[in-house]
Amino acid sequence: MGGGGSGTIFFEGCNLGCVFCQNFDISRGRGGPEVSAEQLAQLMLVQQRRGCSNVNLVTPTHVAAQILAAIELARSDGLTVPVVYNCGGYESVEMLALLAGYVDIYMPDVKYADPEAARKYSDAADYPQIVRAALGEMHRQVGPLSLDERGLARRGVMVRHLVMPDDLAGSAEVIDMVAKTAPGCGMNVMGQYRPCYRASEFPQLLQRPSGGEVQRLRQYASEKGLCRTG
Ligand code: SF4
Repeated sequence: MGGGGSGTIFFEGCNLGCVFCQNFDISRGRGGPEVSAEQLAQLMLVQQRRGCSNVNLVTPTHVAAQILAAIELARSDGLTVPVVYNCGGYESVEMLALLAGYVDIYMPDVKYADPEAARKYSDAADYPQIVRAALGEMHRQVGPLSLDERGLARRGVMVRHLVMPDDLAGSAEVIDMVAKTAPGCGMNVMGQYRPCYRASEFPQLLQRPSGGEVQRLRQYASEKGLCRTG
């Protein structure tokens, strides 16, 4: 996302339970260092001083209230680079509303169109309806993707979607929903699914989507007016 690199800060834990999680050591992990809102604000400022083009908060949802306090402190201490909220898309509209004005770029996953797949593989049957409402709120706050003169994301929504084997995610339906709910946003249709974590318990998760299928979906997203971001 930037010439100076993205200033990534990972948070341990996750509010979803994806059985194929590629970062399960972090999402299911415990035991990383605890930081206060003041320390987190300082970490954000360190990323800016290192020349990072943004502060990229990964898996922030379950600690959003503490993050909000930290962004407020960091802004008052001189943080000017965009703040990226890099999440799984399973967000409450009420919490997102509190983040308005503090987050510049929302980078949510939109994982599933199908509630049954969401239940089975991420333990969240209401994921499709929750992510639709969240995406609408994100778009209301920051609008379509906008780039600066260097081509770096400055503001807007950038959606990621991981194509699942055997179209378990309902990818075309996901793209339709994104185009309707967040017109003009960035869209990264990702083809790097690989079976991880507990995927071996689900035979249908042991395949990989074909390259041709991923290409077709990228083309479809572009026809729907979504800017390709990956
Ligand atoms: S949302 Fe992402 S980090 Fe969280 S469990 Fe699912 S794949 Fe892992």
